[in-house]
Amino acid sequence: MAMPRRSVDPATVDPAAVDPGTVDPATVGQRLDELRARIATTFGFDELRPMQAEAMGAVLAGRDALVVLPTGGGKSLCYQAPALVLDGFTLVVSPLLALMADQLRSLEGHGVPAAALNSTLKPEEQAAVWERLRAGELKLLFCSPERLASPGFAEGLVRAGLASIAVDEAHCISHWGHDFRPEYRQLGELRRRAPHVPILALTATATPRVREDILSELGLPHALQLVGDFDRPNLTYRIRPRGDLGRQVYDVVQRHSGSAGIVYALRRTDTEEIAAGLARRGVRCLPYHAGLENEERRRVQDMFLSERLDVVVATVAFGMGIDRSDVRFVVHASLPKGVEQYAQETGRAGRDGLPAECVLFYSGSDFHGWRQLMEKSTAEAEAAGVPGVREELENALDRLGEMWAFAGGTTCRHRFLVEHFGGDFAAKPEGCGGCDVCLGELASVEGAKVLAQKILSCVVHCRQSYGAAHVTEVLRGARTAKLVELGHDRFSTFGLLKDHAAPFVRSLIDQLVSKGHLVVARGTYPTLSLSASGVKVMRGESDVQFVAPATPPSKAPRERSRPAPILDAPDVDADLVERLRQLRRRLARERAVPPYILFNDRTLVDLARRRPTSEAELLAVEGIGQKKAADLGPLLLEALAEHRAT
Ligand code: ADP
Ligand code: ZN
Repeated sequence: MAMPRRSVDPATVDPAAVDPGTVDPATVGQRLDELRARIATTFGFDELRPMQAEAMGAVLAGRDALVVLPTGGGKSLCYQAPALVLDGFTLVVSPLLALMADQLRSLEGHGVPAAALNSTLKPEEQAAVWERLRAGELKLLFCSPERLASPGFAEGLVRAGLASIAVDEAHCISHWGHDFRPEYRQLGELRRRAPHVPILALTATATPRVREDILSELGLPHALQLVGDFDRPNLTYRIRPRGDLGRQVYDVVQRHSGSAGIVYALRRTDTEEIAAGLARRGVRCLPYHAGLENEERRRVQDMFLSERLDVVVATVAFGMGIDRSDVRFVVHASLPKGVEQYAQETGRAGRDGLPAECVLFYSGSDFHGWRQLMEKSTAEAEAAGVPGVREELENALDRLGEMWAFAGGTTCRHRFLVEHFGGDFAAKPEGCGGCDVCLGELASVEGAKVLAQKILSCVVHCRQSYGAAHVTEVLRGARTAKLVELGHDRFSTFGLLKDHAAPFVRSLIDQLVSKGHLVVARGTYPTLSLSASGVKVMRGESDVQFVAPATPPSKAPRERSRPAPILDAPDVDADLVERLRQLRRRLARERAVPPYILFNDRTLVDLARRRPTSEAELLAVEGIGQKKAADLGPLLLEALAEHRAT
């Protein structure tokens, strides 16, 4: 398929062509040092994460930059911190009210003056925000892209002292991304309307195409590109064929009993069914999907954020704006429609940097389900005269194909994801230690060659006109009415694999497809046929390998921690952690904010580890700046003193 030509190719940007900014390097260096000190006192962070210093340096130098960091990589600080020291205020463009509200609350907790201009404000409230802006009282202003497009708005901001612009979730501007929002396209106008204001674009989607699109759509051809390491070493990835789903999901939940988790399912009915099954087994969980009343959705979300609910079983409608950083597991009950979605959804696990697990259960039927859905909506859009839908379908099918190859493949999951996003993965001979492939949980299946031959011959017997479900039934010798009527029970391949479970046979078929030995027809009927390589395998002329789950992960010792893996750290007192957690929960209830807004789990563990006895010692704890110390300090010190006394 022909790619439209773009003006900027990030891979070939000449470093000399990068805009050097308007401030000289020595001054930037000095300001950056001052900024580090401000970050320590305000946010309580003594170290910067990878790319944060570079991004802040770009903002201070007055140059445009694109920051690509994974979810949880610390993008917000890249604009929040420089805003403290710039003359004027920083505008943050954000796609969702929930994301804005979360950041505002967290900034408030750190004593940073910030506000939002959005449609929920009354006219007099809006006037008050403008008043504070013009008076120079605000350091950050959040607004939606639609708002920014309204006539005269950007110009008004410039007059009020706009110093810098941050475009959050910048991939929403790209057609190639998975989250395209037409209103983001209007941001291309920003440069023209505020020509001297540097723009910092931020995203967690790093595919070169999307990066390219962000730069050309925002009109930042000379932007400095800062692409972080995409690996999430604290996540353990596992991908399994789907079998007894209820049991499989429960096993994961049980490994993390009492901790927070999200289970993603495709359909509303699936979320309800899975949630009911988990609830029967005593899990504190609820379903969440677009079919629920707004009020119920809000209730589920609030319960999850306030730690009154451990597990949410949701469609992908749940997640954007969910900033609970101690999510210990994310389960996918079926195949996501692309690697980007998978990375984004699993990215919600372990944002606090502590260990978390991501498990995907899939089957070939997910693939065909998606494809039919995509083809159907394309046909409908075409009938309605929408242009360009064929090309979009091709793109969507490409992305689905990548996801399918990833799931069925046997490449280290960390490596695959890093490379998918255009990064280099430094492979270690002993493996990554954090995926089913490297942990040796996928054993190769014995007798693969013969199994493959049996399956491929059966496909031929079925005249290459039936799908995987039918072929599986024939191989397993299911004497169904349909099969008998067709006479397929008389095939020599009938019942050849009767000693194997259906999900196993199905998984072998899926693997033959992902290796390209079997081809699935496009269109209404996903029938199987042999490729040229499949014919060779059937004739025994070439070899084939299959993998199957070997060790159930529930037996792996490194996973047996309870209730949260952090409690396993030998130098942390689990009772103290629990006491602090309860204090946090109580305070969060009193103040009607989610607990993680007060302080996150890393701060919690650091408190338990250091056990500060004075305000000065408290300031050394990660995530505690001056405002937090003044605000929560007395209560924290009291709780710590009580604990010492027991
Ligand atoms: P992103 O937007 O990239 O997904 P966030 O900005 O939400 O990530 O940051 C994730 C978490 O990391 C937040 O809890 C944030 O407070 C924390 N964080 C950011 N920078 C640092 C740092 N330099 N040191 C310690 N924690 C940090
Ligand atoms: Zn690995």
